[in-house]
Amino acid sequence: MKTVEVVFDIPLDKTFDYLPGRFLSQILPGVRVRVPFGRQKKVGFVVSVKEQEDRAVENYREIIAVYDGKPLVTDELLQTAGFIKERYFSSFGQAVFSIIGSLPLKYEFNGGTEMAGPETLCVKGGVFSKKYILFRDENEKFDRYNGLISSINDGSVLLLFPEVSQAEYFHERMKGLHGSRAVLFHGGLKNKEKAEHWFRMLNERKLIAVGTRLAVFAPLRDLENVIIDNGHNSSYREQQTPKYDAARTAEFRCEYLQVPLTIGEESLSVSEYFSIANRAAAVDHINGRELPPVLTAGMTRPSVDKNVQFLTRDAVSMLEETVLKGGKVGVIHNRKGSSKVLKCEKCDNRFLCSSCGSGMVLSEDGKSLLCRFCKTAVPFEKKCPSCGSRKVGVRLYGIEKMFRTLREQYPEMRISRYTAETGGVEEEFDVIVGTGIVRKLLGSYPFQLVVFVSGESFLNTPEYRSEENFFIMVNEMRSSITDSSCRILIQTRNPNLEIYRSLRENKPEIFYAKELGIRKHLGYPPFSEIIKIELKGRKKDVIRHKQETIEAYLKEREIEIIYSGPSFPPVRKGKDVWKYLFRAGAEFDREEFGRMAQETGISAESNPDHI
Ligand SMILES: [Zn+2]
Ligand SMILES: [Zn+2]
Repeated sequence: MKTVEVVFDIPLDKTFDYLPGRFLSQILPGVRVRVPFGRQKKVGFVVSVKEQEDRAVENYREIIAVYDGKPLVTDELLQTAGFIKERYFSSFGQAVFSIIGSLPLKYEFNGGTEMAGPETLCVKGGVFSKKYILFRDENEKFDRYNGLISSINDGSVLLLFPEVSQAEYFHERMKGLHGSRAVLFHGGLKNKEKAEHWFRMLNERKLIAVGTRLAVFAPLRDLENVIIDNGHNSSYREQQTPKYDAARTAEFRCEYLQVPLTIGEESLSVSEYFSIANRAAAVDHINGRELPPVLTAGMTRPSVDKNVQFLTRDAVSMLEETVLKGGKVGVIHNRKGSSKVLKCEKCDNRFLCSSCGSGMVLSEDGKSLLCRFCKTAVPFEKKCPSCGSRKVGVRLYGIEKMFRTLREQYPEMRISRYTAETGGVEEEFDVIVGTGIVRKLLGSYPFQLVVFVSGESFLNTPEYRSEENFFIMVNEMRSSITDSSCRILIQTRNPNLEIYRSLRENKPEIFYAKELGIRKHLGYPPFSEIIKIELKGRKKDVIRHKQETIEAYLKEREIEIIYSGPSFPPVRKGKDVWKYLFRAGAEFDREEFGRMAQETGISAESNPDHI
């Protein structure tokens, strides 16, 4: 007797057997079926059709419908599902559905006749290699990527971009150059297109597949090369379980298939720099033009302008001069509303964490001090622990106030605002005030000056990666700016920090060395793997039960908890959120932990962007 082994998109790492009924001839591993599941009906994915020892028909229920005429995935993608399951703590079923979950259940199949089994064609004894290309100018990317693509003649290439608009733009240009070899895949496609493009990738060869995070699962059977643009971008991280990282997943596929992986960056992340320093990856520097220079301005009371109190006098004269000459100015700030920055104005005391020794930052509401590494939180006493001075919190304006002040001060200038909320830009402007999103405009307008109002507003956030994120952001902006005579001015109360010296002197190694030193000392990535568990829900007893299970699990295995407490920084009342952070050491048993996570119904993340 034959039965069909099925997995579901549920947190249970288990297969379920069904009778094929009248569908026996249609059912293949890799197709989706509709089956009874408890009192419901569910869509499942067929893993195998097997000879069943158990001959008691009454033990099994029958398949209700079959959705696909042909397998949806290759055997290589099933291996990838296995990788996702283990790496990101999900069931195999959840991993499979993260690969095919976006495909519609009903579609018309009008693909080519060539359709074989699920095997991959690319077994030609290549080698895996990982290489970064470090660009100084965004515009160089197209030629470089296209050069790589053009050099591949007998296989397919996969290109991933962080944003749909970038993928669409690149796909259009690829279509212009390589015609029908180009195929687009991302979550925003219409259902019909999704199915069509998926089957094109499965059936055709020598394609150029372009897409976003979801396209990392492109079912190409002759994959020869993968290119990832901006590999450390947070858009590559899925937010639902399994919380996979598409860049890391692409690396798995390349290793499995033994084909090269290329990652294009304008600025390396700390982990990327570390892997290059350790020769786990190669790097190719594209030494195009000079990067726009970075200057810093020390914010002290005497240096601040009388009328525009969030800019130094130097910054004000640079702004006036730039606009007079017809150049555009960007004024960038991290906060929409006003906020406070921690600094003793009398002595130079830094507020250090009593547990780990790194610098503390002020919480959003100004009531507590937070450590961005070990997550220690203490009430803020509003005085300097070193000299007792009460002048310890410097108030910073928000973007709204800056915008109004500049308008009042310079009625003759065209001053505009740009944040995620305001959306587009009014036609013409001389000065644009906004968040980091202003980066999107840098390539399209002749910017001559970009001012960061307060470096602290970016650095002093309770994230262990805050310095890294700011460093990358400034460097990426430099690459976006079209005119290399444009100046970037960062106002700060601590101009001597390594990060600023590194930017001013154009020596990224200064920043990486400093940051890697801290990470090593405190045991943070890339020196360890951090696992985050976040519990959300309204039912207190459910959360309590989960907490007990997790704590017992970690205690039994003598795993040290880095942080256990409310979500950080604390969120609004009414929504219970609890968070655990711990390190996955050499002894850590991923499979066992994954099982516990599924049984308990918790979601875990490996090396999350935000801890
Ligand atoms: Zn002091
Ligand atoms: Zn600490």
